[in-house]
Order: sequence, then structure tokens, then C-alpha cells
Amino acid sequence: MNILERLKPRPGLRVLVSGAASGIGAAIAEAFLEADANVYICDVDPSAIARAKEKNPKLHAGVADVGNRQQVDDVIEDARTRLGGLDVLVNNAGIAGPTGEVEAINPDEWDRTISTNLNSQYYFLRRAVPIQKETSDCASIVAMSSVAGRLGYAFRTPYAATKWAIVGLVKSLAIELGPANIRVNAILPGVVQGERMDRVIAARAASTGVTFDAMKDEYLRKISLRRMVTVDDIADMTLFLASPAGQHISGQAISVDGNVEHL
Ligand code: NDP
Repeated sequence: MNILERLKPRPGLRVLVSGAASGIGAAIAEAFLEADANVYICDVDPSAIARAKEKNPKLHAGVADVGNRQQVDDVIEDARTRLGGLDVLVNNAGIAGPTGEVEAINPDEWDRTISTNLNSQYYFLRRAVPIQKETSDCASIVAMSSVAGRLGYAFRTPYAATKWAIVGLVKSLAIELGPANIRVNAILPGVVQGERMDRVIAARAASTGVTFDAMKDEYLRKISLRRMVTVDDIADMTLFLASPAGQHISGQAISVDGNVEHL
């Protein structure tokens, strides 16, 4: 196999991506489809799933709130049936959670952030790993953390806590699953261009009393390359990790962020 072939995921790879009707997950799903993978997406929003399927009729799809264990069980069973097994799990779904001082954070919002961002990872893993062990000889798992899983992030404590926890989960699981030839890595996106980041910047601007543009400039000054990354940059790294070129990479927390220096 030459180097360019090693950089492509194996055709027919069976891939499940959570939270993939839009944003980073959708870009990952589309990139795998372009690489001739067999892709199943799930998302909480039925109309967004319908739009994604209309755009890419080859996608398999199901509706699930990733924080709901029963719905995750159902979607994994459906994915197993439709894909005939599982090679790659991309645990992508996550929410921004509340912005504010710790004493001002609503406990229900804290719980929802932990449930959607962290418990969901476990709900998928507990069902997907046995299927990967049984059906795959090139299994891997990618968990979506964040630069907020590498640096402290004031006023976003529930989000940062979940994203650091994901790194601990990945590093521990890589040790546990290595002997079964299952690789486990985290990707830590930085500031990703798009509506979600605009919402995050707006919330932070409001909570600290500055304008949206001033807050956006502040974000860019913290990035060594002085630019945001794109959803395609994150998809590229996910495909690399699933390709033969990534076959010896496990237990890593890989930043794709232009080198965010501090938050
Ligand atoms: P989005 O906010 O665009 O959400 C992606 C999809 O996930 C949406 O379709 C969303 O549905 C869905 N979703 C939300 N909640 C749930 C749920 N409970 N169950 C199932 N699906 C759900 O996210 P991004 O693409 O921006 O982020 C993807 C991942 O990357 C997340 O884990 C995030 O923390 C991480 N990340 C993102 C960064 C960024 O700048 N965008 C930076 C660093 C990390 P709906 O639209 O209905 O909410």
C-alpha cells in the first residue's frame, strides 16, 4: 500500500457518528461517505435527521437523545443491524452548557451538560465496544473533547469538566482495549467557525459585558495562528485516525486548534 492509500479509511468501513445531523458530526459523516464508508448517524432532532438523509440518501440514521440510555441502546441496535457490525465509533454529540459564575449555574443545566457530554459517551461505549470486539478487525473510537479539555475555562465549568473527563476516559479505555486491538483517541477542537461558536462568543460577551466583536477579537488573539479552525479540519483528523496511517495511534488527546494558548 502506498502512502496515499494508507491515508484513506478502508472502503466499506462501518461508522457510527453521534450528534451528526449538523455541525462537526455532519462534516465527519460526509467525509466518511466520500471515502466510501458505510455511515450511520444519530441526532436528537428528527427534522435535522430528515434533512441530512435528503442531502445524503446513502446515510443510515436514527433519532436519539444521547443522554437517554434507552434511546442510545435502541439506536446502537439499529446501527448494528443496518451496518452489519461496527468498526468506528465517533462519540461526537455535545452541548455548550451554561455560561456563568459557578454559584449562578442552574443545577438542572449542570446535570444536562454532564448527561449529554459525558454520560452519553459511556452509554455508547458500553454497547458499541462488544459489537466492535465481535465484528471488527480494525476497530477504533474517537471521542470529541475540546480545547476546554486541555485548558481551564472560567465561566464554563460544567463544559470544561466534561471535556477533561473525556480525556481521562479515552486514556483509560485505550489501555483497557489495546489488547483487543481497539484504538481510542480524543480530538480536541479549538475555536470552530460557525453558528455554535457565534452563540458561545455572544453568551460570553453578554456575561462579561463586552460587545460581540470585541469578544471575537479576544478569542482570535489567544490563537497562535490567529484563525479559527473549520469543521472539515476536524473531519480530516477523524478520517486520519480511522485510516491505516493511524493504526498505531491510541490513547492520545489530539488538538486541532491552531494552538490555543489560553482561554
Ligand atoms: P452542534 O451544536 O452543531 O451540535 C451537533 C448536533 O448534535 C446537532 O444536530 C445537535 O442537535 C445535536 N445534539 C445536541 N444535543 C443532542 C443530544 N442530547 N442528543 C443527540 N444529539 C444532540 O455541535 P458542534 O458540531 O459544534 O460540536 C460537536 C462536538 O464538538 C461537541 O461535542 C462539542 O462540544 C465539540 N466541540 C465543538 C467546538 C465548536 O467550536 N463547535 C469546539 C470544541 C469542541 P440540535 O441542533 O437540535 O441541538
